[in-house]
Amino acid sequence: MYLQCCNHTHEPIMLLDGVAVTIGRSAGTKILDKLCSRTQLQIVANHSKKYAMVKQLGANPSQIDGINIGQDRKCDKKGTSSLKSRENMHNSQKNKTSENFDNGTAADVGPPRATVSKSSHWSQGLKSSMTDSSLQVYKDDRVIVIKDKYPKAKFHFLVMPVENIVSTVHLNSAHASLLDHMWKVGRDIAKRSCDDDTKTRFRYGYHAVPSMSHLHMHVISQDFDSPSLKTKKHWNSFTTEYFVDAEDIIHEIKTEGKVKNRRHMTELLKNALRCHICHTELKNMPQLKKHIKDCR
Ligand code: AMP
Repeated sequence: MYLQCCNHTHEPIMLLDGVAVTIGRSAGTKILDKLCSRTQLQIVANHSKKYAMVKQLGANPSQIDGINIGQDRKCDKKGTSSLKSRENMHNSQKNKTSENFDNGTAADVGPPRATVSKSSHWSQGLKSSMTDSSLQVYKDDRVIVIKDKYPKAKFHFLVMPVENIVSTVHLNSAHASLLDHMWKVGRDIAKRSCDDDTKTRFRYGYHAVPSMSHLHMHVISQDFDSPSLKTKKHWNSFTTEYFVDAEDIIHEIKTEGKVKNRRHMTELLKNALRCHICHTELKNMPQLKKHIKDCR
C-alpha cells in the first residue's frame, strides 16, 4: 500500500502495515507552503482490511475526496482516494502536491510497484542503521542492537531482529523465543552500559504504533536526560501506556498468538505532561525537564 503523488513530483511513499507515517511540508513531498504543517497528516495503513486511517494533525484543512477531514479527526479510507492539503498551496506551486492514496487490491500490499526504494523513506532508516558500525553495539545470529540515533535518555538502545519483521502486529506464536531473546539481550545491554551506576533504572518495550519500520524494542534509561527529548509526543510515547512493556508483548504472543491492535492509543500522545515519578503536571517541556532533574 502506498501514497502516490498525483503529479509524480516525488516517489510513492510506502505505507507499511500498522506503521504511522506522517506527511506534510518537507523536501520529500515538495510541499513548500508554510500553511501546511510539517506534520500535516498521519496515515496508518491496515493491509489486511485494505484501508487506512488518516488523521489531520495540522491546523489548516486537508481533504479526502473533497471533504474536509478536520483537525484531530480521523477518517477510514478504503479504495483509492485523493488527499489534499490546502487548495491554494497546490495552486500556488508549479509542483502540485495532491496525493493519491491507493489501497488498491491485494497485489498492492507488500513491496511497492513503483520506483520507491525501501531505503528512500525516513521510516526505513533503521534498516541502514542496523549495519552502521558507529551505532551497532551488539550482534548475534538473531538480533542486532544499535544506539538510538536520537536518544531520548542517557542510555537508549534499539534491539532488532535480524529477521525482517515490520512491527509487533506482524508477530505470531512462532516468534515467542525470538522475543524472549530480544528481551534478554536488552537487559544484558542495559546492565553492561552502566555497570558502575546500579541506580539507573531501565524500561524495555515497544511503542503502541511505531513510526519506524522493522521491529524494534526500546531499551531506555528512565532519566530522560537528553537534548533529543523535545516534544510532548516524545515524552508521552515513553511514559504513558503508549509504551508497552516487552513482558506484555511476550505474554500476548504466548497466550493469544498475536499482538493486540493498539492504534487507538495515539490519543495518549496528547496527554498533559506529567512527571513519570511523582505524576506532577507540568506546563511545558522546559519545566518538565527541569522538574525531572530533581525528581529522581
Ligand atoms: P518508534 O518507531 O516510535 O518506536 O521509535 C523509533 C525510534 O527510532 C526513535 O526513538 C528514534 O529516535 C529512532 N530513530 C529514528 N531514526 C533512526 C535511525 N535512522 N537510526 C537509529 N535510530 C533512529
